[in-house]
Amino acid sequence: MHVIMTIQVLARMLSEAQAALPRECCGILLGTGNRFTEARPAANVHPEPETHFEIDPQALIDAHRAARAGGPQVVGYYHSHPTGAAEPSATDRAMASGDGRVWAIVGTDKVSFWQDTPDGFRALSYLVEES
Ligand SMILES: [Zn+2]
Repeated sequence: MHVIMTIQVLARMLSEAQAALPRECCGILLGTGNRFTEARPAANVHPEPETHFEIDPQALIDAHRAARAGGPQVVGYYHSHPTGAAEPSATDRAMASGDGRVWAIVGTDKVSFWQDTPDGFRALSYLVEES
């Protein structure tokens, strides 16, 4: 499986990660199926934001409510690793719910994509489409 997004979605995650330093940024991926149409930043409300993230619960509630009202679906989440690799950390694995959504992880030099399956994170490839 692969995911598809515009260069704007990819660039948004990279710029958010840069702006949040030295903290982790986080946000919600909106779209349909495996296509992301928006990376929407959210506040990182975790008390240790340099090494953890917790997406502002209100932002999630709002996104799910908008999805039920016919808006884009909540297809995944993104967060950054300010000093680490673009792959799930032990903390990420502990937090994963196995709900099938996609996690985008912004490392120091790239973004990687993972599906949160009941059997753990599965690496996904990605395509950037013309906008
Ligand atoms: Zn992480």
